[in-house]
Amino acid sequence: MRITRGISRIRMKDKKRKEICHWDRSEIQRSIALLIVQAHNAKYVCKKCGRTAEDKSLLCKPVREKGSDGSLSNS
Ligand SMILES: [Zn+2]
Repeated sequence: MRITRGISRIRMKDKKRKEICHWDRSEIQRSIALLIVQAHNAKYVCKKCGRTAEDKSLLCKPVREKGSDGSLSNS
């Protein structure tokens, strides 16, 4: 449960906070722990590329997973 440990260090290093949608492979591998946490706590999904994140600023076209617009409720 405590996977958030050590993430603050990654965040501090990664000041620019480029959308994960635009990360290249090396950036993904460097920050995989952050991505795991983001996926676990995901509240947003990118409607352009399907990535998920807790922080919508990490996605290029974020939409709420549990929004009231019903756009994602056709399961
Ligand atoms: Zn995206």
